[in-house]
Amino acid sequence: MQPFLPFALPDIGDDEIAEVVDTLRNGWITTGPKARRFELAFAEFLGDSTLQCVAVNSATAGLHLALEALGIGPGDEVITTTHTFTSTAEVVRYLGADVRLVDIDPATLNINPRAVEAAITARTRAIMPVHYAGLAADMPMLHALALRYGLHVVEDAAHALPTTSYGRLVGTLPSAATVFSFYANKTITTGEGGMLVTADADLARRARVMRLHGMNRDAFDRFTAKVPSWYYEIVAPGFKYNLTDIAAALGLHQLKRAREFADKRAQMAALYDEAFADLPLLLPPKAPEGDQHPWHLYVVRLTDDSPLSRDAFIEGLFQAGIGCSVHYIPLHLHPYWRDRYRLQPAQFPHSQRAFERMVSLPLYTRMGSADMDRVIQAVRRLLRP
Ligand SMILES: *Cc1c(COP(=O)(O)O)cnc(C)c1O
Repeated sequence: MQPFLPFALPDIGDDEIAEVVDTLRNGWITTGPKARRFELAFAEFLGDSTLQCVAVNSATAGLHLALEALGIGPGDEVITTTHTFTSTAEVVRYLGADVRLVDIDPATLNINPRAVEAAITARTRAIMPVHYAGLAADMPMLHALALRYGLHVVEDAAHALPTTSYGRLVGTLPSAATVFSFYANKTITTGEGGMLVTADADLARRARVMRLHGMNRDAFDRFTAKVPSWYYEIVAPGFKYNLTDIAAALGLHQLKRAREFADKRAQMAALYDEAFADLPLLLPPKAPEGDQHPWHLYVVRLTDDSPLSRDAFIEGLFQAGIGCSVHYIPLHLHPYWRDRYRLQPAQFPHSQRAFERMVSLPLYTRMGSADMDRVIQAVRRLLRP
């Protein structure tokens, strides 16, 4: 029996390890010079040095800070997709605002702009698209809606580094804020971490203050600036969302490899596509010609002529020693969201149908060709018995 092939593994190189060791030895282990360097390197990666990048300890924190800075609160509504991780929606509830979940476009698995428009009310303040699996949501349509109805757009770009939408990198589009995740299984990782990106200097300033207790200067500033180092002021009851230099050390080197990682995953996705072309599977949607897709996830959907159910398929892969996952159990099926908003699967037919048939197969840069072959053989054996 071969060893179990996990669903995902981080790809940490010697440079990342050496940078972490350097951080541990130099004594500045929490937010400091490396977190700042990581923010500047991130703006440079996005190709726009006027962007403000605010390093945080998770994407969830970044999404929360973005909505807080936009002044979203009780009485407000924020529209997002039901086909996401709970983070996207929970931050709206942190602020006492309400979530309006809408269905996806089954062709892309991204939020459907027509469903967004139908959900807009007098209370709507923002739209939160998710670039599912790394494929850009329909940003031109969503930005047009935002403009027409006076709404903010906050992008959940947890899967989208690097993604382009009509040739422009996600992070540089005309949204209020875009938030990336560096969780362990994301396209680059700092263990836990995230980056809030915005062109709005006021939003960035508020997020920086709220990221660290509502303090008007962060610790690194305090120990390097001219004014007395012991002095600070609390201007709001803030949060503890700062990224450590230990994590930023990983991020500095992971970011340098982001394009190489994306290219490798794109090659792997193309290999899967070819190997599965004749199977009863709906293969993942592709980016439009000329656009970049980082392949955070490779999600297949069983078609009606599949010989087995989604659950039996996952069990079969597990028996073959292969880890896989489901992205996502839609929010409308989780007790909290279902009960709070009295949601029924029939309100989200496309998300529901996709969920019932979908499986995320392992696809990450540490997989070798033998690992890929193993997945391909197991999938073929189950679907073409
Ligand atoms: C991973 C993920 C998040 C949360 O990221 P964290 O950095 O773990 O907070 C949010 N939204 C989506 C779609 C994700 O996949």
